[in-house]
Formats: sequence, structure tokens, C-alpha cells
Amino acid sequence: MPFKSLQQDILLPRHLTTWQWLFEDPTYSPLHRFPRNELAGYTDAVTKEHLSWLDVKEAATHLSTALVKKYGLQVGETVALFSQNTIWYPVAMHATLRVGGKVSGASPAYNVEEMTYALQKADAKFLLTHPNSMEVAVQAAKNAGIPRERLFLLEGKLEGYTTVKELVETGKKESQQAEVFSIPKGKTNFDICGFLSFSSGTTGLPKAVMIAHQNVIAQCLQVLQITPPDLKRILAVLPSFHITGLVHALHLPVLLNAEVIMLPAFTMESMLNTVVEYQLKELLLVPPILIRLVRDSIVDKYDLSFLRRFSSGAAPLSEEIIQLLKKKFPQTGFKQGYGMTESCSCITAHPPSLYDFKYAHAVGTICASTTVKIMKEDGTEAGVGEPGEILAKGPQIVMGYLNNDKATQETFDSEGYLHTGDQGMIDEEGIITITDRIKELIKVKGIGVAPAELEDLLLGHPEVEDVAVLGIQDEYSGEVPKAFIVAKEADKAGQSLGRELLGYVREKKVRYKAVKEVEFIEAIPKSASGKILRRVLRDQQKSGKRGV
Ligand code: AMP
Repeated sequence: MPFKSLQQDILLPRHLTTWQWLFEDPTYSPLHRFPRNELAGYTDAVTKEHLSWLDVKEAATHLSTALVKKYGLQVGETVALFSQNTIWYPVAMHATLRVGGKVSGASPAYNVEEMTYALQKADAKFLLTHPNSMEVAVQAAKNAGIPRERLFLLEGKLEGYTTVKELVETGKKESQQAEVFSIPKGKTNFDICGFLSFSSGTTGLPKAVMIAHQNVIAQCLQVLQITPPDLKRILAVLPSFHITGLVHALHLPVLLNAEVIMLPAFTMESMLNTVVEYQLKELLLVPPILIRLVRDSIVDKYDLSFLRRFSSGAAPLSEEIIQLLKKKFPQTGFKQGYGMTESCSCITAHPPSLYDFKYAHAVGTICASTTVKIMKEDGTEAGVGEPGEILAKGPQIVMGYLNNDKATQETFDSEGYLHTGDQGMIDEEGIITITDRIKELIKVKGIGVAPAELEDLLLGHPEVEDVAVLGIQDEYSGEVPKAFIVAKEADKAGQSLGRELLGYVREKKVRYKAVKEVEFIEAIPKSASGKILRRVLRDQQKSGKRGV
């Protein structure tokens, strides 16, 4: 029997878009629930530029009008956002959703090849970027066939490019603002995709995950149900393009009417200065930042005694770090969320009753309106205390992959449950613990890296006969990629080729995808059907073999 959530079911509006829900609906929108002078908004931690929800609504209305009326944005088209965190990111996002477009995010660190792939897979028709990413954006847009007049600046200035602020002014001048998109008759907000995020899922290359308006609304309502009312300020340090930032920093705070303090670029110093300046009581972080909080000596310069809670997600956190955190911050509580892009963030999360380091090894209980199946290797359902693969079903589970029915079908079982590729178990109190990862994914600093992408690249090197890439533990990044290589000529397998291959990946891929270690082996273990037997490699790895 599947395990049910212990929470009360959420009441899910099925005919609202995220725009209507956050900016127009009398029940949900903060614009209807709070007086104007009490409205929170997005604030830039560095420049202090601030946009209240009302400012966001107005700017997004005019921006969407300019995009539709002057540049021809149509319902269902994709607008790509390629930028570091900025308060203009959510404005562009809400503007796109207001008129029925789809928003696709991408890491601002991507190189031209990676960005071209992202634009093509998402079938993007517009690209909004930041001055720091413009060089890559120009080339990638060209490769993906996005005309230069549809390439805009989210903030800052660059000769020859129109900025979002200018577009807002253009839209304002229109006598009639573009019409708000509403869910067509006979459909629900689960049928309309609003967001495309990249994930490799349980196998293969990164794919564009179709996230429905309903998924984001459901996830926010699920998390709202277990969020204490004291959460008044939220630090947006996680990137906006990742599902965690997208939901928890760009949407949920609007519903909570909590101020979002946006950190454009992460350094420990800028984050800690911001935390102190705004006296942030709860910090939503990823394990690599939590690791630095206990290891980096710079932290000792700050009085953080006002901190009340750490929230961790996106990747596993080791018991060692949990213990160090508890020792260093004895006054804080701790919570975790667990899920994936395909579950629009959380499948499980800690409710307030579990905000304690005692439960930090676990990922909490099943979110409201969600059921979980744990499947053992023999194909039967696990009971309490038995490990197996976690599968989940609920209103936050996404629509599937864009233009990839095969991958979509393989990701869901016959009852519509999402395969997570994670192994875990549930105890008598309904608390879930993640025990292992069965799928290929590598989590570097909380960001997913697809081994298949690095394997494809390395196979293209003239000295490589065969390759398999695995994640290995890393003190700083959580996990990092390691490549097992079969050299074309056995006598060339050695340090010099190893170094060359490390450099080859560094040159062609964004920094967080860099291979940290190379090990030469005679053959990649494979199944009869040619699938890499990663578990065999992993066991060899555990037995202590060292690479270059
Ligand atoms: P992504 O789609 O990038 O969010 O990656 C999702 C994957 O990250 C999950 O399938 C897990 O393998 C891992 N993950 C996310 N949250 C946690 C967590 N709290 N603990 C352990 N692993 C996690």
C-alpha cells in the first residue's frame, strides 16, 4: 500500500494561472489581503533596489504588453531567462506567465554550447539576460535562431540593447494593456505548462521538464501548510533557474507576503553581511554552503545568534556536517526538503514539529495531498523500515518532458507515480530518510550534472575508447564527477593523458561540471544490453582504487 501524507489535503485552485493566483485572486493575492503600505516585495541585497508586489504587478503588466504588442510574444511561446539573481528576473517571469508564455531558466555560468542546447531544447523565442552573460547570450541566441531584436537586458546597460525598464516604459504607453491569459474552457491549470527547467531525471542527457501552473501553486500551498508564520524575510541566495529558487524564493514569498532579499552573486562574505544586515532568522541553503558555514573561519567574525533555523535541500547532507552545525549553532532548529525538478521541489519536508537536529538526518514527512510508494528491487512495495526506490504522486508532480514522450513514459509507472531514482525508507512516524541514489545524477554544489553529458563529450576525445562518469564524495562540493576511461592505446593511459582529459572537459563545460578525477581501467562494466553497470564501478570505487 502506498504511504499517504499525514497533512491535511490542500485546497487547490484548478483554474487559476500563477499570475492570477498571486496578483489578482481575492483569496490568495497579497494585493487583496494586505494594505498597500504592508506589502513586501523583492529587494536587491546590494543596490537596495526594491519592488513591492504592486510594483511587480505594474512592471510585469507593462513588460508583457511590450513583449506581446511590439515584439509578438504569443501564448505558449518560451521566454528564456539567462541571468544571475536580480529582482528583474521575477518581473520578467511573471510578465511572461501573465500572457500565457513559458519561462525557461538556465545557469548564468553556461558557455555558448550549453546555452545553445538549452535554448534549442526549450524552443525559446526570446532571451532576457544580464550584462555579465551577454557575450554568451549573443552567440547562443544566434545559434538557436533568436533574432537580435528579441534579446533584451534584464538589468544594467549595454550599448545597442533594450532593457526591461525601457520595455516597461514602452508597454506603459500602449492605450490598452495586453490581455491576461486565462485557462481555456475544459482545461485545468495542470494542462498548461508555465515553466521549463532542465533535469536529466533518472537517466540520460538534460531534458526540459514541463512544469504546469498547477505544480507551482500546489507546491507553494503544500509548503505553506508547514511554514511558521514568523517567516517575514527570505534570503534568495540559491539560483533562480533551479527549481528550489524558483518556487521557494520567487513564488512562495509572494503568498506569504515575505520580503525576498536577493543576493546577485554568492560569496560567503556577501551572504553573511546580508544575513546580519536583514537579521534573517531562517536560511534556505544547500549542503555545500552549510559545509562552509561550519568550516570557513570567516563565519566566526559574525554574530549570528539571531538565527533560528537552517533549511537544507537539493542534495544530501552528511551526518558529520549536521553534528558540526548543531555544535556551532545550538540555538537553531533545522529542517529539510527533498524532491527533484520533476516534483517541482518537495515530495517530503519537515513540519514544524520536526524542526530539530534530532531529525536532521531525515528529509521529513510526505507533503500534503501526496502519496509515496517505496519499491523494493524485487518489484514489490516496501513496508515500514524497508529500503527501496521512492516513487511519488501528487499535484506538484510535473507534466513530463518537452518533446520527449519516451523519457516521460519511462519516468512514470503504470499508476502515474514518478520514479525519483532515489532510495529511501519510511519509519512508523511517517518520517522518510534517503539512504542512497540509484540514478546516474551527480549533485555538484546542489546542482545536477548528468553523467551522460560528460560521457558524450569524453567519447569525442581521440584518445578515449570508452568512458563512464560517476559522482564521488567531495568535501567542498558535496559530490564531483569522476571519469573512468578506457584509453584507445593502453600504453598512453597515464598521468599525462589524465591531465589532458581534465583540461578538455574544463575547456568545454561550465565550471561545476568539471571532472575532478580520471581513472584508467581496462573495460567499462556493461550489461548484455550495453548499459553501463554503474553500481559495479561504484563498488570498485568504494574498495579504494585511486585515479589520476
Ligand atoms: P534536482 O532535479 O536538480 O533538484 O535534483 C533532484 C535530486 O537531488 C533528487 O532526486 C535527489 O537525488 C537529490 N536531492 C534533493 N533533495 C535532497 C535531500 N534533501 N537529500 C538528499 N538528496 C536530495
